[in-house]
Amino acid sequence: MDINSPYFHPEFETLSRPEIEALQLDRLQKTVHHCMSNPFYRERFKQCGLHPEDIRTLDDLRRIPFTTKQDLRATYPFGMSAVPLEKCVRLHSSSGTTGNPTVILHTQADLDAWAEALARCLWMVGLRPGDVFQNSSGYGMFTGGLGFQYAAERLGMLTVPAAAGNTKRQIKFITDFGTTALHAIPSYAARLYEVMKAEGIDPRRDTKLRVLAIGAEPHSEEQRQRIEEMLGVKAYNSFGMSEMCGPGVAFECKEQNGMHIWEDYYIVEIVDPETLEPVPEGEIGELVLTTLRREAMPLLRYRTRDLTRILPGKCPCGREHKRLDRMKGRSDDMIILKGVNIFPIQIEQILLQFPQLRTDYLITLESAAENDTMLVEVELQELFTDDYGHLEKLTKEIQQRLRDEILVTPRVRLVPPGSLPRQEGKAVRVKDLRKKF
Ligand code: ADP
Ligand code: ZN
Repeated sequence: MDINSPYFHPEFETLSRPEIEALQLDRLQKTVHHCMSNPFYRERFKQCGLHPEDIRTLDDLRRIPFTTKQDLRATYPFGMSAVPLEKCVRLHSSSGTTGNPTVILHTQADLDAWAEALARCLWMVGLRPGDVFQNSSGYGMFTGGLGFQYAAERLGMLTVPAAAGNTKRQIKFITDFGTTALHAIPSYAARLYEVMKAEGIDPRRDTKLRVLAIGAEPHSEEQRQRIEEMLGVKAYNSFGMSEMCGPGVAFECKEQNGMHIWEDYYIVEIVDPETLEPVPEGEIGELVLTTLRREAMPLLRYRTRDLTRILPGKCPCGREHKRLDRMKGRSDDMIILKGVNIFPIQIEQILLQFPQLRTDYLITLESAAENDTMLVEVELQELFTDDYGHLEKLTKEIQQRLRDEILVTPRVRLVPPGSLPRQEGKAVRVKDLRKKF
């Protein structure tokens, strides 16, 4: 392996658009044939009178019905498998953020392909053998654990499988082992910094950290910049989901402007979540993915419920694989308040423009006599007394800026640093206490 090459898989990363599309058609046709080994897809195709041979062009993909999370739940646990169970070597299950878990099966070839895809991402941002890679993800069913572990080993880095929690120990590993690269969910990266600060550790002076992979939960550009400033690193957005193996689906290159989605692994579509028709290029819609390299559990037109768009134009890095914009959130994250649609990320974006505020915030929705209300609680960087009415002024200003962005006026409460609840896993940003009828 040429460690000076910007590519981990030059043969795939340097493909032109026509070459990518030719490869995709070939792999799509094979995948569709392979799906016929699975009773669920066989029945689906029969119901709509479709035969694998009908898929002659990439556009024919649109003739295939969507696969949904409900389909995965209805066939729980092994009904989506396209190979005998004896050929599978591992299963993962989604963290169940939005309901019952789903099961994802893997053959050894699936695990190898997954590790290769994510190793490609880590290489793309300049990580090489000689780097020390620490993973602060849980190593259980959560794919961020084993996923990053195997990918970092594949690349040839020294890996520190620190796992989640125990922040002081995490920091000791970073300083003692000379960790240069870390994988963390964004809310945890901020937490690490808080604890370092409390321990008198300056990440720039006392650690060798230079690259962070951050993902698994929605976060704003402002949040990324905060993390970069706090830890003195470059932080790259990493996107994945259990149904697509896990991390490694899409990742930012050094340009930090959109995440390249590996189109030799996936066909990407963006559809209007209501009409299910494709949206014009560059517009936001629901991400739909078709797997091209999966053996145990191929998925056709899987509705991810994640909202994003494809960035138009070419990336200066030279890779022609399409770029996904930062995730806006899941369709189920959308708050509907007084008839207005709001995403938590819009609120985060505004809050983090105020240097007086930390990255921790909590949105609470409550029923009131007349109307539902929103309370936004956010932590102050430091506690100061309100002798001169500073806090009141700040609160008003935040409220105004939020109203301009989300079109409803929330109540805003500035709370002491460290007072909002912290999660072990993905951050919980919204508490909905409204009465459901
Ligand atoms: P669960 O669906 O139970 O949370 P997963 O661990 O499979 O389990 O989570 C995948 C989901 O996490 C994605 O569908 C997406 O909503 C979110 N996600 C993953 N990476 C990112 C990212 N970089 N930015 C925003 N959201 C992300
Ligand atoms: Zn690029």
